[in-house]
Amino acid sequence: MPILAPTVPSSSNRCEQVIWTRLRLGHTCLMHRHLLFGEPPPYCEMCNVLLLMKHILCDCPHSNNLRHRLFNSVDFTISNLPGFWEDGFFDYGSFMEIMQPWAQTVICGRARLGGIPVGVIAVETRTVEIDIPADPANLDSEAKVISQAGQVWFPDSAYKTAQAINDFNMEELPLIIFANWRGFSGGMKDMYDQILKFGAMIVDALRQYNQPILVYIPPHAELRGGAWVVVDSNINEKYMEMYADHESR
Ligand SMILES: [Zn+2]
Repeated sequence: MPILAPTVPSSSNRCEQVIWTRLRLGHTCLMHRHLLFGEPPPYCEMCNVLLLMKHILCDCPHSNNLRHRLFNSVDFTISNLPGFWEDGFFDYGSFMEIMQPWAQTVICGRARLGGIPVGVIAVETRTVEIDIPADPANLDSEAKVISQAGQVWFPDSAYKTAQAINDFNMEELPLIIFANWRGFSGGMKDMYDQILKFGAMIVDALRQYNQPILVYIPPHAELRGGAWVVVDSNINEKYMEMYADHESR
């Protein structure tokens, strides 16, 4: 069974390491030059699918000969490749979530992008449930499970977002925000839980940031209402930039 080494072999020279890394990232001149020249992305002419590293290495029947010659097998699937992963955003295995159990409608963490450490803030799009324990001092209270909708900032997740931004700023990390928010939750209970204060804390944290901040709206993501206000690049014009995919709203 053919297996690619999970890491770049230490015995390889620099030239080989570059090839390994490009294969593992799925970023090669063949697949990415169209971005530089503003051309349409390349297709596999035989199979009529988008030309990706995974297609060439694993799927394309027209490379069967090569696979057989190099690996003694044409059966070459992604699960055979412990060091290989689907094309993603950050370096392989580098994302580490922080403050995970708390306020799960927002996801904060640290990762590396091309070897550079960055802070990351992303959005949970699924509904999450949180346990609220009973108040021991109040005989009438009971433990409750409440659900929080995805793509919404609640008081706890807005507070978590602001905390994470302040932490990353102290660590002097560039910040990448994957924006996909429908807004802030604005019910009466959220008002009592100081949603406005925590929303303002996000703005304060971004204003004080002195590293690059990239706000990216991914494909099919949306950024609406009050959520747009707190990540608008006018908050910190010197450091903030916003990018939106063609298919975002
Ligand atoms: Zn093909």
